[in-house]
Amino acid sequence: MTIYQNLIAGEWVGSDATKNINPSNTNEVVGLYADGSTEDTKNAIAAAKAAFPAWSRSGIWERHVILKKAGDEIMARKDELGALLAREEGKTLPEAIGETIRASQIFEFFAGEALRLAGEVVPSVRPNIGVEITRDPLGVIGIITPWNFPIAIPAWKIAPALCYGNTVVFKPAELVPGCSWAIVDILHRAGLPKGVLNLVMGKGSVVGQAMLDSPDVTGITFTGSTGTGRRVAAASIEHNRKFQLEMGGKNPMVVLDDADLTVAVEAAANSGFFSTGQRCTASSRLIVTEGIHDKFVAALTEKLNMLVVDDAMKPGTHIGPVVDEKQLKTDTDYIEIGRKEGAKLAFGGELITRETPGFYLQPTLFTEATNQMRISREEIFGPVVSVIRVKDYDEALATANDTPFGLSAGIATTSLKHATHFKRNSEAGMVMVNLPTAGVDFHVPFGGRKASSYGPREQGKYAAEFYTSVKTAYTLA
Ligand code: NDP
Repeated sequence: MTIYQNLIAGEWVGSDATKNINPSNTNEVVGLYADGSTEDTKNAIAAAKAAFPAWSRSGIWERHVILKKAGDEIMARKDELGALLAREEGKTLPEAIGETIRASQIFEFFAGEALRLAGEVVPSVRPNIGVEITRDPLGVIGIITPWNFPIAIPAWKIAPALCYGNTVVFKPAELVPGCSWAIVDILHRAGLPKGVLNLVMGKGSVVGQAMLDSPDVTGITFTGSTGTGRRVAAASIEHNRKFQLEMGGKNPMVVLDDADLTVAVEAAANSGFFSTGQRCTASSRLIVTEGIHDKFVAALTEKLNMLVVDDAMKPGTHIGPVVDEKQLKTDTDYIEIGRKEGAKLAFGGELITRETPGFYLQPTLFTEATNQMRISREEIFGPVVSVIRVKDYDEALATANDTPFGLSAGIATTSLKHATHFKRNSEAGMVMVNLPTAGVDFHVPFGGRKASSYGPREQGKYAAEFYTSVKTAYTLA
């Protein structure tokens, strides 16, 4: 079997490899991917450092052309790359193709941003002096990504990093190297100079740690768990380095008595269970007012009954497998915790067998949960959702905000007053009205508050806040 190698200083290198396993069928090896070492990472960082001066001064047209070419190739290969994604991560084929299209759109967007780079010229408060405000690239950006969006998250970090003139060392999650390898290959062939983009696949504790330990990495953008994010933060402060963290969530969806029941159920089913609940923006807490509670639970349970859990590649599958055995154990452990805490298991909770050996779990719904239970406070990151009954809107809002996290929040209501109040008072970075808490646009800011995020927002033109450093220059006329 071919070994998909690391890209360091423009060369494909590495012979040690790890198997990429399909969670829908654990007998299937998706591919063999290089297992990078500390030495590989140091070489990649050195290559990125050496490539920085020339790339930071490269013309915006060159950056535009390369990013556009990459976006076009990803779009042209959306079905093939989507299938690779579905096989390595386990989200359904339509979801995986949708994510691939999004990655292409992100490259298109930043290809455009490269042509829109601009500064400001403003008058000084002193006579005969001009002031210019410009943005400089940071230098070498370390990119560390999680397993749940194997093509979109790498795209939304690599595209702006390159667009603004930085060089990159990229470490994808060890569980899903396939799509990362593919987009690095695409960018390499699109004409990036040697060393501008380096890929080091391998373990977080080895490759990721070597990036954190290097004084030559001038910025780190990280998406993953809150625990690892804190390590990234501590190491970055040590090196006086800029860092950006996107981490976990325990996102609430409020359902009010006046909600359109169909809209509320669709939004809850989508945000709680699609992509196997493995989205940072998934809503795992459904906060439902008394008047609609029983009707809502009955309709949602009926909907869950109709959802097909099966191989991600099979037509008709609504929910693919859990990503791996470790995550499956976390999910089933939390189901046990929920039972012991006194929540009522209203649906699911059991493992399922299918034609092929895979990590299949029923969508699981707890009712009679309280917001103080561990299943309501800690991120599970699987298809496990709790319903919390509340008296009225005020209690719903207070419960929604009573969480250590603050990524996204939703409300299902037909009341303009409550929708408006919720948008203003939700302590989340992204707020959805009558929509799932997951599912966002690629051209506007993405990110959260509290333990969910740290640093500037990702995506859209706001991405410049992280990937550049502002310079103010004064000139005597
Ligand atoms: P992890 O924190 O386990 O891993 C994230 C990345 O960090 C992986 O590439 C991992 O490598 C790497 N890593 C692990 N240890 C270290 C280390 N010591 N030094 C440097 N890097 C390290 O998260 P998961 O991959 O399990 O992803 C799930 C989490 O991601 C959830 O909490 C989810 O909420 C969050 N997430 C947040 C999003 C957001 O935008 N807020 C979006 C998507 C996910 P390896 O896996 O190879 O060990």
